[in-house]
Amino acid sequence: MTALLEFERVSRVHREGESEVHALDEVSFRIEYGELVAVMGPSGSGKTTLLNLAGGLDTPTSGRVLVGGVDVSASSGEDRAALRRRSVGLVFQEYNLVSSLTALENVALPLELDGTPSGEAQAQAHRLLGLVGLDDRANQFPDRLSGGQRQRVAIARAVAGSRQLILADEPTGALDSVLGEEIIRLLRAQIGPRSGGVLVTHDPRYAAWANRTLFLADGKLISGTPALTGPGDLLSPSAESAP
Ligand code: ADP
Ligand code: MG
Repeated sequence: MTALLEFERVSRVHREGESEVHALDEVSFRIEYGELVAVMGPSGSGKTTLLNLAGGLDTPTSGRVLVGGVDVSASSGEDRAALRRRSVGLVFQEYNLVSSLTALENVALPLELDGTPSGEAQAQAHRLLGLVGLDDRANQFPDRLSGGQRQRVAIARAVAGSRQLILADEPTGALDSVLGEEIIRLLRAQIGPRSGGVLVTHDPRYAAWANRTLFLADGKLISGTPALTGPGDLLSPSAESAP
């Protein structure tokens, strides 16, 4: 079976003058369709680097990144841009929304950029805002929305256009834990049998919504990988932990 996301011995080295930072070091894992996988680890352990590589925003120094069996690391910049538009939805801690567009327009934007006629894009955006409980806020600009509402818009946008791979980098940001849990619950609810997601979080309560958790330290995966074959297989799978 083709995995939704597969990292094969992926390394990413940043060079800064004389020094090298090994942001990720020979990381291998698979994420299957239908899964939400949490990624935890201290600051600087490589979590954002991992998401950027998964989303085609960055390319590995060595190793391969496959999305739906397609080698993203070998794709052209243009193909990776198309992947980001069509297949990958990103939710960040902040700066998620275009401030000059309404909630509805923000959600419709990636659909329109990818060629969906405007009326159809807006209808889809309306439906998605309904799913995250924001029907009545569709015409508000981001600065009129609360932090939790803005993240709900970002989730609606991340799943617009039946994108398969949802990547969320500490999407709960500065939200209190009740709102944060609501955001993660919504994220979880958007994942169906033909999609999946990666959730970077510091909080084990949020990670508990994932099927399993990968732990990073100093750019290395320290536990929680599914059974791998070959010499890299030092690690055992963690227990299923969805609530
Ligand atoms: P995390 O998201 O877990 O905090 P990051 O993936 O952002 O970690 O960073 C991993 C390591 O790579 C850190 O040591 C960070 O300083 C370094 N790093 C990340 N991006 C760059 C970059 N563009 N240039 C140089 N070093 C970087
Ligand atoms: Mg980070």
